[in-house]
Amino acid sequence: MIKPSDASIWASCIRRVWLDKHQVGQVNVEISDFDQLLRDSGLEHETAVLAKLQQQYDVHKAHSMEHTRELMQQNVPVIYQGRLLDELHGLIGYPDFLILHESGGYQAADAKLSHSANKKGIQIQLGLYRRILNNQLPALVFLGDGNTAAIGDEVDSLVDKFIIAMQALLVMDVQPAVRYSHSKCRICPYFEQCTPEFEANEDISLIYGIHGNSANHLATAGLSTITQLANSCVEAIPDVPYLKGHKKKHHAILQAKAYQTGEIYQLNDIILPEGMWIHFDIEDNPLTPTRERHVYLWGLLTAPYSRDDFDYIWTDDETRDYQGWVNFLEKISSYRAQYSTLVLAHYSNHERTTIRKYAERYAMKDHATVVWLLGNNSPLFDMQKTVVDNLILPLQGYGLKDICKHKDLVNFQWQDEDSGSQWSVVQFSRFLATTDPHEKLKLKNEILGYNRDDVMATRRLEEWLRSINASEIRAIKEMN
Ligand code: SF4
Repeated sequence: MIKPSDASIWASCIRRVWLDKHQVGQVNVEISDFDQLLRDSGLEHETAVLAKLQQQYDVHKAHSMEHTRELMQQNVPVIYQGRLLDELHGLIGYPDFLILHESGGYQAADAKLSHSANKKGIQIQLGLYRRILNNQLPALVFLGDGNTAAIGDEVDSLVDKFIIAMQALLVMDVQPAVRYSHSKCRICPYFEQCTPEFEANEDISLIYGIHGNSANHLATAGLSTITQLANSCVEAIPDVPYLKGHKKKHHAILQAKAYQTGEIYQLNDIILPEGMWIHFDIEDNPLTPTRERHVYLWGLLTAPYSRDDFDYIWTDDETRDYQGWVNFLEKISSYRAQYSTLVLAHYSNHERTTIRKYAERYAMKDHATVVWLLGNNSPLFDMQKTVVDNLILPLQGYGLKDICKHKDLVNFQWQDEDSGSQWSVVQFSRFLATTDPHEKLKLKNEILGYNRDDVMATRRLEEWLRSINASEIRAIKEMN
């Protein structure tokens, strides 16, 4: 049978659906703490939607497919956890709600944490409910931000494509050929099963910057292995999706060489801004009741950059959100007064985006410190952009941990091996939930320790960038 819940996996990787359906391979399906937190938050959201509907309508819980059919025949206003079946087409569905419309038909509805219904998985899922219900009424999505979205005929072609593809996958004897995706594969339970095959084939999708679709087109043009790509020249690579123009092709060739040899390629001189560097990293929680991200920790590392130089603003919960933001601005303002030239170094664009969103949230775009932080002479300095623009590294991803933990690159190790941004959100949710003051303090210290390691890592990255600029390491070749 095809389930609507197959949709998001299918949209991510068709091999994963095939492996799931054919139950091939040893899979560790242990759910991560973060995924469990997401599930719990999803259930809380569904319960909140249920409570609202119960205030307006008579809501009946369904216990089986037959019971759902009976309740629909009785025209009950809202059916909770209904079960739908289309035996002819092999479709089953479990919409959170079935809502009786004035026309006499039922509308399927799901509660989703997402702020948008414009996601393939959601569209197919809700489209399938409509297909099983076989009426013209749009399906509804009760979004995490409190809005409601409608999904109608516009997704029919996508639903058709999904059903046809799934029917083919269900009868397929061998696993479908797919490409490697660093973002999807490394968090997939079949990672250990699939990766050896990609590596044995020297699949070019293993290379950073080579999208699966690009790899398919390149293979058609006779370029299918990492060795072929590494030995290629820009002129020999055709224009394919996501890989057009001299610069991208040149980088792809160097990336393939770096993958094979472990070497670093420097594209340009790395220019780091002058001034007093302060390293900056935030921890935020997306799972607030309002679904507005709450920054619970604004972390900073000041000179001389030892563990004792870690500075921060912490807020115990989202009710202190505004105070935390104002305290952050005050701290930045005091640094500005202290140092004639300040560099606020962070990794990725997230910190700048968050400052902009907070300024909008609290109508403070004209605040002097905000104007300075986001203006033309901003002290904010994104180190990831500098790395990506100037270096080709023997990596499959350019995240802070990818670069810093690599023994031949920055070689900085976090004290807590398991820590990470999702780990931090889980720890913070435990901090919120516990009433035990000792446990609270322990969790807070763990989160602070992780954030301190993050800013120490960006400091080590800064030092590493300065060292490779100043040194004559043979592995670094100027190829531009
Ligand atoms: S490891 Fe990658 S290719 Fe294999 S099933 Fe998972 S997502 Fe698909």
